[in-house]
Amino acid sequence: MPKVLVTGGAGFLGSHLCERLVGQGHDVLCVDNYFTGSRSNIAHLIGNPRFEMMRHDVTFPLYVEVDQIYNLACPASPIHYQFDPVQTTKTSVHGAINMLGLAKRVKAKILQASTSEVYGDPEIHPQVESYWGHVNPVGVRSCYDEGKRCAETLFFDYWRQHGLKIKVVRIFNTYGPRMHPNDGRVVSNFIVQALGGNDITLYGDGSQTRSFCYVDDLIEAMIRTMNTPNDFTGPINIGNPREFTIRELAEQVVAMTRSRSRLVFAPLPSDDPRQRQPDISLARAVLGWEPTIDLRDGLERTISYFRGQLMAAAE
Ligand code: NAD
Ligand code: UDP
Ligand code: UDP
Repeated sequence: MPKVLVTGGAGFLGSHLCERLVGQGHDVLCVDNYFTGSRSNIAHLIGNPRFEMMRHDVTFPLYVEVDQIYNLACPASPIHYQFDPVQTTKTSVHGAINMLGLAKRVKAKILQASTSEVYGDPEIHPQVESYWGHVNPVGVRSCYDEGKRCAETLFFDYWRQHGLKIKVVRIFNTYGPRMHPNDGRVVSNFIVQALGGNDITLYGDGSQTRSFCYVDDLIEAMIRTMNTPNDFTGPINIGNPREFTIRELAEQVVAMTRSRSRLVFAPLPSDDPRQRQPDISLARAVLGWEPTIDLRDGLERTISYFRGQLMAAAE
């Protein structure tokens, strides 16, 4: 079995990926600096002989021996990536250079966790991989969006220049257990607010849209992408094409938690994309994949996770 490195492995998506890979029989090396991830996300894997954890910041070189690299290290929520924007760009760009340098030395296959944010506030809908995006290079989201765009450039230049085996996945909004409760992302925010009986904060008028993918579906697509033939590089969209307004999401969370929370309106953050929906035709064709867990089902599992967390915190 290939030995796999997962950077950002103690984060939300990374921890699910490590778990799935260990379950498939891989030796997994998880690298994380715990900026937004936590030991508790991977606590259940510690002690498993196939799992190893290393505290390390990917902006510094890393010398290990692996066969595959999933590069997920990067804060993903606006609150976290805007906390230290210079470090966010460094993580995407220097982190990509180091992981690509590592992949080059050990001849590993390497997958980049890119994002729908490379499309910015899109002018075409739904978004296809051939769309180049509509991104503000000097705004508050730029450290993340442009950092990820530059990382994609580096991946494709290492592929063209050095013949690396690369895969680039563009992940659309994903949710599920182990999301950080205070990272400001909309699904975790609404659930935590609803369970606490607090106001549900809709930014703007709540008519902007997102398409939400449950984490298990996403991880399946990521692993399938890693295992595509070597001549397939992506970029490939992965996400759930079912689109909802943020207001619809709020109403669904309130109904499912039977909460008394009220919907309140707050200012829309700058550069907040108006609408977002992946075109997943390529993923359907190349991976034979499409999401299987609908929003209601995924929200149920996520609500039950946060309920458990809140109860544990209250004890
Ligand atoms: P997350 O914040 O939970 O995970 C990111 C992990 O990277 C954390 O464990 C963090 O501690 C670690 N990290 C950050 N900087 C690091 C550094 N310099 N060195 C080592 N580790 C570092 O976020 P997530 O939602 O799990 O996102 C994982 C990846 O997927 C990110 O690259 C993100 O951009 C991408 N992505 C996520 C989504 C989504 O909806 N969740 C959407 C698009 C793209
Ligand atoms: N690198 C790393 N681990 C390795 C090999 C390289 O972290 O096993 C880093 C190294 O620090 C370098 C970067 O990856 O700065 C890019 O490596 P590459 O070989 O592409 O370029 P160069 O070493 O010529 O700068
Ligand atoms: N949002 C909201 N209330 C919140 C958190 C987010 O209305 O408490 C909105 C936000 O303005 C955006 C959408 O929900 O339009 C998704 O936000 P998130 O930060 O989860 O993801 P992204 O904007 O990066 O897609």
